[in-house]
Amino acid sequence: MEPQKIDIKLLETTIKKELADARETSDFEAILKKYLEKETGVLSKILRGLKDLSEEERKTIGPKANELNSLIRSEVFKASQSKSEDNSSDWEDITEPSQELEVGHLHPIALVLKDVSRIFGGMGFEIALGSEIENDWYNFDALNIPKDHPARDMWDTFWLKEFRTEAKDKLLLRTHTSPVQIHYMQNQKPPLRVIVPGRVFRHEMTDASHEFDFFQIEGLMVDQNVSVANFSAILNEFFNQFFGKEVKMKLRPSFFPFTEPSFEVDISCINCDGQGCPACKQTGWMELMGAGMVHPNVFKSAGIDSKKYQGFAFGIGLDRLAMLKYKINDIRLFKGCDLRFLKQF
Ligand SMILES: [Zn+2]
Repeated sequence: MEPQKIDIKLLETTIKKELADARETSDFEAILKKYLEKETGVLSKILRGLKDLSEEERKTIGPKANELNSLIRSEVFKASQSKSEDNSSDWEDITEPSQELEVGHLHPIALVLKDVSRIFGGMGFEIALGSEIENDWYNFDALNIPKDHPARDMWDTFWLKEFRTEAKDKLLLRTHTSPVQIHYMQNQKPPLRVIVPGRVFRHEMTDASHEFDFFQIEGLMVDQNVSVANFSAILNEFFNQFFGKEVKMKLRPSFFPFTEPSFEVDISCINCDGQGCPACKQTGWMELMGAGMVHPNVFKSAGIDSKKYQGFAFGIGLDRLAMLKYKINDIRLFKGCDLRFLKQF
């Protein structure tokens, strides 16, 4: 049987058009299959049949068929290369070492807050939060610090000039978390056990132990027959758990407008366990917090009968706790954004 006449010119035009139209990897694979599959490919068959052609036909068809063979293979190869370059999801080297991911972690203040919340939570204390902007009634008057009372000077206050509430109370950045005590007592009935973590603001110079904003944790317990003994027992248990060792505690008389009696709480030095070291100025004790029995006027502001209920309140600096626990000597490091510092936690 006479072999079918091969129109190599037409074939060349067809192949070049198909290659030019090809977009997807699958298009190129289809062309490869159609023309170059070993048994059935159009070009494969032509190349295989060259030996049966006349010398003249072989001379015109042979080189062209080989050229088309190379063209198809190189175009398919180029398409697969560019595909893997601009679309990496198409091809992934699972043996390639992965890039190390930087994982974030908790700030030391957050770690301390977690600890404090867990320990007080275990002793039945709820957590309450309040607003960082307060009016002067909640921040001062309700806490037995009337207007023009010299005690207001104990807190250097950031006043917000432009805003006033309907009650004409001036607004401020709260100087302590104590206003939340009032809000909480107005909305809950005793017995109460609550801690209030939060940011507070003081208009003062910063140094290694002072910041103009820092974190405080307020505590309040109100019930019938609550005494200083309850306070001592609860706080001592807290310190033992927080520092993971037996901590001694002593109370010194002090003055705060919102508590009566008021006291400063010292604990045995965490560094030297009371032996005396530079951190405690050789005294064996460290000042830690202020506290006291809730003043009757504060109960009155919050609508609680002070003849029926007593309570204690305390305020600790979270920054101070973190500094003691992690032996940090400068409060400004907490907000300094220095990764060399932060990465240690
Ligand atoms: Zn010491």
